[in-house]
Amino acid sequence: MARYTGPVCRLCRREKVKLFLKGARCTTEKCSLSRRTYAPGEHGQSRVKLSNYGLQLREKQKVKRMYGILEKQFRRYFHIASKSKGVTGKILLQLLERRLDNVILKSGFGVSHAQARQIVRHNFVYVNSRRVNIPSFSVKSGDIINIKTKDTGIKYVRDNIELTKDRMQAGWLEINKENLEIKISRLPEKEDIQQPIQEQLIVELYSK
Ligand code: SF4
Repeated sequence: MARYTGPVCRLCRREKVKLFLKGARCTTEKCSLSRRTYAPGEHGQSRVKLSNYGLQLREKQKVKRMYGILEKQFRRYFHIASKSKGVTGKILLQLLERRLDNVILKSGFGVSHAQARQIVRHNFVYVNSRRVNIPSFSVKSGDIINIKTKDTGIKYVRDNIELTKDRMQAGWLEINKENLEIKISRLPEKEDIQQPIQEQLIVELYSK
């Protein structure tokens, strides 16, 4: 699956919100958004009043970038959410939050989305004792996720745990940092997502 490989700090500056794409650096004073609060590019500092469409587009781009996915895949998630029973926006966020790479990030076993994705791709992750190397794999309530790999890989994950120890823990994950194990205690709710998201704007955008 294709993914964005360009500079990531400009994505935060474009959305004017910290997307935490660079791991440990994001919580230091080296964060680009703390130093330059305006959008990137030649016209980044000019004042522009966004139209309704502009607001909806920016919200969609922000959420896509938060989860490190591209348009086609994001649209597919929206399609699934809109066909499911319940509130489309909430189901969309739940589908995104249940991605395996996101679980690895939220558990603190990876410091950034790119790194969490790499941990999955490098065959470190087992779900219910079966190896899973698909970052978009959707976890469900009751799943047990383990990190199993050789010594260098384990050290890498343990270093990440140390770097992320001050992060707020996601309420839907039971994390055993000693055994490198995560239990999905329930499905995630919108309140479990720490960044502010107005999912209604995304629904409005795609419903045109
Ligand atoms: Fe975003 Fe992190 Fe870069 Fe700051 S350091 S702008 S939070 S990616």
